[in-house]
Amino acid sequence: MDNFDLLAARLADAHQLNVAYWLAEWDQNVNMPPEGAAARAAHLGTLRRLRHDLLTRDETRTWIERAAAETAELPTDSFAASLVRIARRDSDAAVRIPSAFVGAMTQTLVLARDVWERAKAADNFAQFRPALEGVLDIKRQEADYIGYESNPFDALMGKWEPGLTAAHVGAIFDAQRPVLTALIAALAERPPIADAALHQSFPMELQRQFALFVSERMGFDYRRGRLDISAHPFALQIARDDVRLTTRYAENFFNPAFFGALHEAGHGMHAQGFGRDIDGTFLSDMELSSQAVAESQSRTWENLVGRSRAFWEWAFPHAQRMFAPRFDGMDTDGMYRAVNTARRQFIRVEADESTYNLHIMLRFELENELVNGRLSVADLPDAWNAKFQALFGSTPPSAKMGVLQDIHWSMGGIGAFHGYALGNVLAAQFYAQALAAHPTIPDQIARGQFDTLRGWLTDTIYQHGRKFTADELARRVTGKGIDSADYLAYLQTKFGAIYDL
Ligand code: ZN
Repeated sequence: MDNFDLLAARLADAHQLNVAYWLAEWDQNVNMPPEGAAARAAHLGTLRRLRHDLLTRDETRTWIERAAAETAELPTDSFAASLVRIARRDSDAAVRIPSAFVGAMTQTLVLARDVWERAKAADNFAQFRPALEGVLDIKRQEADYIGYESNPFDALMGKWEPGLTAAHVGAIFDAQRPVLTALIAALAERPPIADAALHQSFPMELQRQFALFVSERMGFDYRRGRLDISAHPFALQIARDDVRLTTRYAENFFNPAFFGALHEAGHGMHAQGFGRDIDGTFLSDMELSSQAVAESQSRTWENLVGRSRAFWEWAFPHAQRMFAPRFDGMDTDGMYRAVNTARRQFIRVEADESTYNLHIMLRFELENELVNGRLSVADLPDAWNAKFQALFGSTPPSAKMGVLQDIHWSMGGIGAFHGYALGNVLAAQFYAQALAAHPTIPDQIARGQFDTLRGWLTDTIYQHGRKFTADELARRVTGKGIDSADYLAYLQTKFGAIYDL
């Protein structure tokens, strides 16, 4: 295994450069002063270019081919065979793109992100427009370098979800759309749920204490992680023993910080559950693992657990005590219903489960049109509003409530949004499997015990790092590819009961 060892060492170096990148990115989001963006862009660009160099060197390519021969007899899910397979996939993709372009693209994106932040604060799309046009230009160039059969959008999607095409995702969405639009139309006819209790003043420190208490009980280990504040919540894995979460606090609304923290803690438990053999290797590049698989794990804890009746049986008395007297007039059932209020509103990250995937479909369709040149950036705000009107029956009152709300496009995350929607689908698909294996999971959750669920997720999903694509993992765990049946049944059953449909 001489060549395998050389390759593994080279890939570990590439991984360590990524770790430096993430630490700088974490700092950018949590600590960096506002004028630091230009210097940080240069720094991040260099780190990306150096990593790209390591992956695409001739000797690395040679080691990959020889290591493939050395590991040919090993099972495909073994560490060594997986490392070589993923290295070959990533190197084959990277070698098509010049290193200088990778560095320049990274700089462009870091700066565009900064422009977006200011434009959003000013609620002014025109201020962001040239930067977004620059992002689209450079992403189209990237797609040309990567190559594609007929749709350049497929090339960009492949970065986040290898093997998945716009046609495949479009078909999944086409099947979901009529079911979801019928569901939200039916929900809109029902009397509204009383959720005023969630819209009171909640001191930030109390919110933080409650989020720490619940996420730790769920199993996020704070000796191996921390929770900070950022405008755009995220989770980063520096190592399996150093996982950084952030959330944001709204003084007058319970949901954003709490469910945001559960979401990121879901990512965090996933990251802390990577196998020890995976830790520090090329297979632990969490940012590069399947976006759909990653989101399935955050959604599991945020929604399937955190918005379940069983969860609030355990958590509500704690919430009542901690936030006293704010929830005095409420009971467990009222809390469960309140946190599941279905509302057609403008902001994706605050969307309830019944509307969430529709928010993604809108973005997915617009991205596809932008990348294919069927839609110009100048026409994007109108196109956004028209699609929003068609799906939700209203028009966003401002750019920051509409087309400017998400950070993703400014950072070059074009072709990534569908990962959130597929994450919802996979979460339901995996959870159904977990319940079949352990029918007592809801009873345990109602007692504040999460070990059985977390243990099952660790064994079936967490420990593998990024060995598998979303489709491979779905087949391995559930016996079928990405499939909406469990997800749609879950939504219909849950909201049908809450709203008495
Ligand atoms: Zn997430």
